[in-house]
Amino acid sequence: MASNLKEELRKVAFENEFEFFGVPDLEELEKVPFPPHRGLSKPSEFMPGVKSVIVLGFHVWDRAMNTVVASAIPPDKIPFDIVEGSVYYNMYYEIVEARAWRVCKWLWDKGYDAVPTNAGIHLKAAATLAGLGFIGKMTLVLTPKYGPRQRWVGILTTAKLEPDEPWKFTHGGEGDLCKDCEICIKACPTQAIIPGYSYGVEPGKKVNFDRCIVPQELFDKPSEEAMKYFRIVDKRALTECTICHDSCPVGKENSERKAAEWRPTPFKKKA
Ligand code: SF4
Ligand code: SF4
Repeated sequence: MASNLKEELRKVAFENEFEFFGVPDLEELEKVPFPPHRGLSKPSEFMPGVKSVIVLGFHVWDRAMNTVVASAIPPDKIPFDIVEGSVYYNMYYEIVEARAWRVCKWLWDKGYDAVPTNAGIHLKAAATLAGLGFIGKMTLVLTPKYGPRQRWVGILTTAKLEPDEPWKFTHGGEGDLCKDCEICIKACPTQAIIPGYSYGVEPGKKVNFDRCIVPQELFDKPSEEAMKYFRIVDKRALTECTICHDSCPVGKENSERKAAEWRPTPFKKKA
């Protein structure tokens, strides 16, 4: 196993402004079930010959990073009635992929194949198997540093890397970042989150897909409730619902502090 390669990769990832780096056990990741009809594949299906998956994450400090934009739709046709020829962009997908391609390029130069994906494999499972976080009750991966306020991308590669230890927890004890909290469940305006832990729940059943506002941005006829909560920012753009995400107390203070530190001078609040 190439531990030097792994450390060099970690450095390259951090130089490209990722803040999380981990490698799940590929055999374990291959066994993880995932919900059907979400475009997910096993790593070996996504990239035949894959030897490792690298999980990278970066801090999301503003809701605007959850903005989606679609082209080739008539103005004022929001939410998106996607027509043939539309191009659909999700801001954070673009950011994480653009950064991940730079890491891939580094691997190509070393003679390995590598390809990034942000929605093609079960990244939440990959992140927890890589020891990076805990799947919270709203199904996003929580880290102690930022709670759910980071976004993930995976790189599938032919480089063989040593896996990290998975995230360990006991209910109500060490490593359990939710414990008896139910804030996100109560905050969801459409009651889409089923109460209780995500662990042990059949894949795809913890959040009611038909009630959650996020997937409705792609429905021909979103519900009236969803229409109330879309944040339309322009003729072809909206910001996704992040109510459960924003409500989570884990890492919130740290995230806010970091966001404030990064703010360029003109945006800083006057003392
Ligand atoms: S994204 Fe919005 S609608 Fe979906 S579960 Fe979270 S709070 Fe509920
Ligand atoms: S809001 Fe509370 S219950 Fe929901 S994910 Fe965060 S810590 Fe867990």
